[in-house]
Amino acid sequence: MNTKIKILHLEDLPEDAELVEYELRKGNINFEKRIVDNKKDYESALGDFNPDIILSDHSLPSFDSFQALAILNEKKLHIPFILITATMSEEFAVDIMKRGASDYVLKDRLQRLPSAVTNSIAKRRLEDEQQAAHERLRLHIENTPLGFIEWDNQGFVKSWSKRAEEIFGWTGKEFIEIQNGFGEVYKEDLSWVSKILEPLISGEVERNKVQHQNTTKDGRMIWCEWFNSVLKDKEGKVKTIMSLVQDITEQKQMEWQKDNFLSIVSHELKTPLTTIKAYGQIAESMLEEKEDIEILDMVKRMSSQVNKLTILVQDLLDFTRTQKGKLLYNEDFYDFNELIKEVIDDMQKINFTHTIQYNAGKTATIFGDRNKLNQVANNLISNAVKYSPKAANIVVTTELQSDGIKLSVQDFGIGISVQNQAYVFEQFYRVNKDNQSTFPGMGIGLYISAEIVAKQYGKIWVESIIDKGSTFHVWLPFDHRVKNA
Ligand code: ADP
Repeated sequence: MNTKIKILHLEDLPEDAELVEYELRKGNINFEKRIVDNKKDYESALGDFNPDIILSDHSLPSFDSFQALAILNEKKLHIPFILITATMSEEFAVDIMKRGASDYVLKDRLQRLPSAVTNSIAKRRLEDEQQAAHERLRLHIENTPLGFIEWDNQGFVKSWSKRAEEIFGWTGKEFIEIQNGFGEVYKEDLSWVSKILEPLISGEVERNKVQHQNTTKDGRMIWCEWFNSVLKDKEGKVKTIMSLVQDITEQKQMEWQKDNFLSIVSHELKTPLTTIKAYGQIAESMLEEKEDIEILDMVKRMSSQVNKLTILVQDLLDFTRTQKGKLLYNEDFYDFNELIKEVIDDMQKINFTHTIQYNAGKTATIFGDRNKLNQVANNLISNAVKYSPKAANIVVTTELQSDGIKLSVQDFGIGISVQNQAYVFEQFYRVNKDNQSTFPGMGIGLYISAEIVAKQYGKIWVESIIDKGSTFHVWLPFDHRVKNA
């Protein structure tokens, strides 16, 4: 050992002290030493000498190693302590180690002392480092907004951090009592906890993330986000389950407020829009009668923009409704091809850039929400127009199949890469988000369309090649109640 270590030696016999020094030198220990033989000097040496290790004879005239160890413990000093003694019974050895000694060396085996000193210091350093790492981790755990809960492999609480206590109001001990059937019980929460932990305990999944409402000790309902993961032993058996939990009630409330706001705004916008649209149609037919081509053209262009706005507002309204799970469906029988024809005619009337070609196959009567399907077709055709600015045609095809009917909307526009095709039905996903001025949009049209189609037990998918164009397909069963009754 090259660095100089400070040794505090509790010894009253100079000859013994010399012997110890001799062995340490022989063992190449680089040290400085202070010798004390009473309590007072020992205590002051702990303060001003600041030893790296203490070597101690067991009994001194007015002091002994037990007392010396007790002082160390009392002062919470984590200094390695080696007992040097003439004799040592097994019981005594156990006793002194229990009191906190790091090692003991017999006086007639002093050759072992240098390695005992080196090892004890190294061991204590490692323990200190581990302790510091543990302390750092504990601080992180206590100071994050996340509560930390550890469950055993039966789903019973093993540890419960202070933050978890702040979130739920229960202390870990109280929750254990609840789990054991004592204390106040919120049965829904308990059964929910077991349901969430079950797949982790059984090893079915390694981790899961759940948002759920939980009840606090004072009976409040809060929203929590849980991140749970399994810790396994070497044999792969589940040892514990670690949960990180965050109170997201405020976040949820803000989301609701935002959704509410959007829903009110879109609702308020829709009413005047409907009126404008109706007056536009009346104006168009009056101008047609008068054959006032110039103003008729202007009104048509205005109607085209009003229509775009109507789709946007409808999408927004539906989006807020899907978020709340409140998208209402009004179902009945309708003729599929007739509906598609209607959508195309309406769209063509207000579209001056593209010709919408209709390849109608055999039609079928479908049971479902006609208006919502109108909206899906509208979305697909207006996307086809929007994302093919250089093309002149859109091709709409319907095809009767044995188990349902298929609608395809093909454009010859910018296309979507295979990688992005997987995401276009997700909310807010926009491939060309950096190009808002060329391709304006909110990224919710396809998401809503997919929701509507899924609700009717249908399918929606896309085939596309970059710079060649895209074809969006929708397949619907004739009557979704039949299969899913
Ligand atoms: P928006 O068009 O408002 O952005 P959508 O949900 O309708 O939202 O579409 C999501 C994304 O899918 C669009 O932003 C666009 O990148 C891509 N996309 C949709 N339809 C087409 C299409 N016909 N051609 C190319 N890209 C499309």
